Amino acid sequence: MIVAKFGGSSLADSQQFIKVKNIVTENPDRRIVVPSAPGKRHGKDHKVTDLLYMCHQLSSHNLHFDEVFQLIRGRYEGICKDLNLEIDIESILDQVRDNISKGASRDYCASRGEYINGLILADYLGAEFIDATEVIRFNARGVLNEIETEKLVEDRLLNAERAVVPGFYGADEDGSIITFSRGGSDVTGSIIANGIGAKLYENWTDVSGFLKADPKVVHDPLPIREITYKELRELSYMGAPVLHEEAIFPVRTKGIPIQIRNTNKPEDPGTLIVNDNWSESSPGIITGLAGKKDFTVISVEKTQMTAEKGFLRKLVSVFEANDVTIEHMPSSIDSISVIVSDKELNGKLSKLMEEIRIYCNPDNIAAYSKMALLAVVGRGMINTKGVSSKVFTALYKDDINIRMISQGSSELNILIGIENDDFDKSVRAIYNAFNEKEAN
Ligand code: ASP
Repeated sequence: MIVAKFGGSSLADSQQFIKVKNIVTENPDRRIVVPSAPGKRHGKDHKVTDLLYMCHQLSSHNLHFDEVFQLIRGRYEGICKDLNLEIDIESILDQVRDNISKGASRDYCASRGEYINGLILADYLGAEFIDATEVIRFNARGVLNEIETEKLVEDRLLNAERAVVPGFYGADEDGSIITFSRGGSDVTGSIIANGIGAKLYENWTDVSGFLKADPKVVHDPLPIREITYKELRELSYMGAPVLHEEAIFPVRTKGIPIQIRNTNKPEDPGTLIVNDNWSESSPGIITGLAGKKDFTVISVEKTQMTAEKGFLRKLVSVFEANDVTIEHMPSSIDSISVIVSDKELNGKLSKLMEEIRIYCNPDNIAAYSKMALLAVVGRGMINTKGVSSKVFTALYKDDINIRMISQGSSELNILIGIENDDFDKSVRAIYNAFNEKEAN
């Protein structure tokens, strides 16, 4: 069985629905289909989910939301009309509108985008509609009940011939609707793939998978054909949002691969995300490059710091007490650097430094801002000599000063700290160094 999830842009209008039907019917194994709500049709368009959140907000302030609801109505009516569907879309929309006006919860309102799209898609595909409330179960605190959900998914979906299950939401024990975070239909698809033990989880979107580097920085970067869950974690952590960050967790234990595919170019192979122990492939040395700007380094020096018991605990607790998460902590014998994103620091730098002075009694403390972090990720690094030499030579040749280096113990990535201004140049230098070699 294959679980096929289609994102908002893949179901934004009737033309996209036609493409989706072709894809689904082309392979009889695509038995569970998970739709998002209609996304943007063009740059200035609205996502239906955003409009639904707006309706809820207006209604909760006792303001009219009809104008916004009309836009939602128009989207769904247009799709049904173009596809000649007989589904009673008016009554469905009237019911949702009524519930919003009667004070339905924010999560209920947001979930209706997927719910209605699911009803339409099921009708169009001639498939069974199975509401996500039947299979995705949350506990009273709004946290996914994994055990219960796995059981429900297996019982309800394993023998389904072809079913459509809307993404993004489920229900708690009382039947109240709960949504995942934004983009959460990716998570629904993964949970279902795990529950039915699918052979593949396909995630259909509007790009042909992941690229080896950001196309805004590197001209026409090569696609990533295969990547492991762990490598993807390293890359997504630095900001490469094609897939919801949490979507790999449900399928990871059973090692079910995820394939990112392009609804608009179904002939493209896309990117296959595979088990960490998957060894049949011969990986390139570098799978991908990703990074982010705007970090601050707080550098703390203290002679014999490693001999002082509890020094690290005291240092880290200053950050914890100020509710600041730490990104990295490279260290040497008598000094340690704490790297924090500026977003996290949020004006707390002088307070943090003052408290470190009080609690840790350092010989010296200084802060440097405007640093960027760049992760060079590749499972092929472990068995390849000279990778770091190549990375650093490339940076040297482009006259880039390296401020920090750290290699994860899994040898899956090399993390480099450079000035914000050198970020784009560094990505290009490293990308070119490795892709020239691979071409030889
Ligand atoms: N429609 C929801 C959103 O816009 C969920 C999703 O698309 O996965 O965030």
